[in-house]
Amino acid sequence: MTAHTSFFENVINYVDRAAALTNHPKGLLDQIKHCNSVYHFEFPVRHPDGSIEVVKAWRVEHSHHKLPTKGGIRYAPEVNEDEVKALAALMTYKCAIVDVPFGGAKGAIQIDPRNYTLDQLERITRRYTHELAKKNFIGPGVDVPAPDYGTGEREMAWIADTYMAMNPGHLDAIGCVTGKPLSQGGIRGRKEATGRGCFYALREACAHAEDMKALGLSPGIAGKRIVVQGLGNVGYHAAKICREEGHAIIIAIAEREGAITNPNGLNETDVFQHRKETGSILNFPGATNIENSLDALELDCDALIPAALENQITADNAARIQAKIIVEGANGPTTPEAEEILLKKGVLIIPDIYANAGGVTVSYFEWLKNLSHVRVGRLGKRAEEANERRILQAVELLTGQKFTDDIFTKVAKGSDEQDFVNSGLEDTMVVAYQRLREIWKGDSRVPDLRTAAFLDAIEKVARAYAELGIFP
Ligand code: GLU
Repeated sequence: MTAHTSFFENVINYVDRAAALTNHPKGLLDQIKHCNSVYHFEFPVRHPDGSIEVVKAWRVEHSHHKLPTKGGIRYAPEVNEDEVKALAALMTYKCAIVDVPFGGAKGAIQIDPRNYTLDQLERITRRYTHELAKKNFIGPGVDVPAPDYGTGEREMAWIADTYMAMNPGHLDAIGCVTGKPLSQGGIRGRKEATGRGCFYALREACAHAEDMKALGLSPGIAGKRIVVQGLGNVGYHAAKICREEGHAIIIAIAEREGAITNPNGLNETDVFQHRKETGSILNFPGATNIENSLDALELDCDALIPAALENQITADNAARIQAKIIVEGANGPTTPEAEEILLKKGVLIIPDIYANAGGVTVSYFEWLKNLSHVRVGRLGKRAEEANERRILQAVELLTGQKFTDDIFTKVAKGSDEQDFVNSGLEDTMVVAYQRLREIWKGDSRVPDLRTAAFLDAIEKVARAYAELGIFP
């Protein structure tokens, strides 16, 4: 791979590398690799001074082997068509790896949302949705967007509202987008899902004593020293859950204006609050400033979670990275050249197409909630609780002993939506890690987890085409 390949070419190269280990015909592999539909459009935005700006926008549907297609929408000033194609392709492989029955897609508007008023952002988002709807690039059975870099619940609510206004009376219309606020058909646990998924990925990796030994680490996530890049939705929740549930230590956090470090550990919630109040992550009480944000990636740590944008770990800094494990919370944070250097050093890279799949997994649960028009747990919670009470009462009868009320309320507890979402997400991430690790360890031709992940995805997409009778 040369130093000048584009993001989409990088993804194609990854597919080619894994595909070389299969016997699939070229035609099938071409069909898997290339983007099914690329829709580029431009529309005007009025500024408060009356001037007009024309903004560029895209929606790319990478693979229609399963429908709807699925993937986020990003608002970023530098975004371009190649990037959207790459990200759409990654969505196809990501969904396949975690058995989420969607094809991959991605959308983008080339703006820096910080330069627009709330009113403009609403108009831009609604216009974008309108343009997608005109070309049948959105719908609960067609293509279902979600949040990504620069967008969140607010934009998803505008998208749902616009689509529903254009499709009055359509019962499933609210399933046209995921990542919505709870009051607009969202699901508990979606916001933290990508970060939570990163936690499960790291926890699983650390659970393999043999793999940890090879890295010179002790097994278990507890006490692991972690550097997080990006205090956005992914990085913030990854840090919080690794610290609270994994008992890991967050020794540094990097943001665009700089980074901070404290070997005794940082509390991401306090750091977030500090940044909100002062406008910068720097000068956090008790921490040391790192003026050049990228320098934080080179700190001595056990795990590094890049959770910002693509191309952060490159041939320029890879040799200086000291982390033993990299959990790719962002899409494409490591360039292929950097990966080569890191793998030679023995770093365990948990690839984006698996590590950040928690978001789309819970998006799938939200879509199911929208189509079924009922919150999971609503019908069964009290029945489950009653069953558990009956078991406790039977034990009381058999032993002649009485349980306290406290024990009854702790044990006889029906599962609610949040419990189901976390349980479904945990199972998805754990099962997928085991499978990828088996592919990696079980075949000497598979050099690393990323190749294993692409191989798993290619096989699944190929099977879908074969079972459609399109390819032998
Ligand atoms: N934008 C997220 C991703 O890159 C979520 C996609 C979704 O939920 O559809 O995986």
